[in-house]
Amino acid sequence: MSPLKVLSVTSELFPIIKTGGLADVAGALPAALSNEGVQVVSLLPGYPAVLKALGRIETVREYQDLFGRPARLLSATASQLELFIIDAPHLFERPGSPYLTPDGRDWPDNAWRFAALGRIAAEIGQGAVPGFTPDIVHAHDWQAALAPAYLHYSDMPRPGTVITIHNIAFQGIFPADILSELGLPPRSFTVDGVEYYGQIGFLKAGLQLSDRITTVSPTYAKEIQSPEGGMGLDGLLRSRSRDVFGIRNGIDESVWDPTSDISLAAPFTRSTLEKRSINKQALQERLGLEADPDAMLFGVVSRLSEQKGLDLVLAALPSLLTGGAQLALLGAGDRVLEESFRAASIVYPGQVGCFFGYDEELAHLIQGGSDALLVPSRFEPCGLTQLCALHYGSVPIVSRVGGLSDTVIDANEMAIASGVATGVQFAPVNLGGLVDAANRAKMLWSDHEAWRRLQENGMAAEVGWARPARQYARLYRSCLEEV
Ligand code: ADP
Repeated sequence: MSPLKVLSVTSELFPIIKTGGLADVAGALPAALSNEGVQVVSLLPGYPAVLKALGRIETVREYQDLFGRPARLLSATASQLELFIIDAPHLFERPGSPYLTPDGRDWPDNAWRFAALGRIAAEIGQGAVPGFTPDIVHAHDWQAALAPAYLHYSDMPRPGTVITIHNIAFQGIFPADILSELGLPPRSFTVDGVEYYGQIGFLKAGLQLSDRITTVSPTYAKEIQSPEGGMGLDGLLRSRSRDVFGIRNGIDESVWDPTSDISLAAPFTRSTLEKRSINKQALQERLGLEADPDAMLFGVVSRLSEQKGLDLVLAALPSLLTGGAQLALLGAGDRVLEESFRAASIVYPGQVGCFFGYDEELAHLIQGGSDALLVPSRFEPCGLTQLCALHYGSVPIVSRVGGLSDTVIDANEMAIASGVATGVQFAPVNLGGLVDAANRAKMLWSDHEAWRRLQENGMAAEVGWARPARQYARLYRSCLEEV
């Protein structure tokens, strides 16, 4: 049987360019899907970091005018991923984040930058590159979401289309008057097309015009169909609920493997959990925390943003740190939160240690050295850090939202009695909820055996890509039956 061919359209891809979980997912799925008889080639903008990472390069298509200037489509490989890269310096040769100017604002031409991604995806979907005509175009998030729209408004035969929502908070909304510049026909500007409250909604268009919609956990799939969680798109999603599927994310178990992780001071297994104390000590040293093996050490690895609920961690600090407990935080993002945590590390020297910025290695050390990982998100499509925590024997303390509630089993009496608990959940997502959860965790932690059972259960939990990859493969095939 020849493999099913999928073009994965994404604005980030681990390990080449990453700002969040989207990169992890887009980076891990190709290998996981190849075990399911699915060949994935990823289409990615040619940011400087991407062009630098490429191995063998071949130009497969040239454009005289891609939204204003010439561009090329490259075929390449990097990090064992098969890639198409849009080499368009006028759109992508810029420093810093894929989306933001160095001073943190959206690039003013983001509509064109990511319309280019969607437009080229659509062309590849319709056979523009000899040798690779995909059966399915799979668009990730708003940045890729015009791909199904371009395909829908074209008169040529098209592949099946799938869109995945990694975070519905980001929707890509732009003024209506650029419609024709984006190469979309006037008839697309309706409520059944790309129009979104008088503007152009990239994500809205993708959700309206794709054959299938997925999001990254079953609970989030329900939440986004409710007025509280849908951020304006719940009505559309309810109207398409037959085509909406929640497939939880996984983590790449070759990247996240506590038994051979070179970022850890001491790799460990489920049966050598005591070695974690060496990692704990290394983490305490690294972040200037007191080297106390008996201090309960809470970890945080997170974007610093309103979504992630880290203001609650700040507010909870006086209670969290009682009894000599410690906090190790790795985060990047919101300046005010950063300043507040920096101030907290001065108020609580030796008890609060922070690193601000992006640091893959430290993220691993926090997972392998902290006792518990705090994830108090206000909403969370899937969340990856709690999966890493489970896999690394750090007990996740999570708010009961989205994928967090799907992936962590709360240590309530029943779950403890039946030996299935893996962490602590709390609701509502407020200060009281977090403080109660942290106190509950402290109680459990003081019972070494109970804690070890939580850790062992967590490490045995299924957090990889095998099952989700099977679900994606099934979804692609069901989609093809209808196109
Ligand atoms: P989101 O995509 O909303 O940021 P996820 O939990 O889905 O959140 O994914 C976050 C990913 O980014 C995880 O792999 C996590 O380890 C990583 N991460 C987040 N912040 C940092 C940081 N400051 N340094 C290194 N890795 C980080």
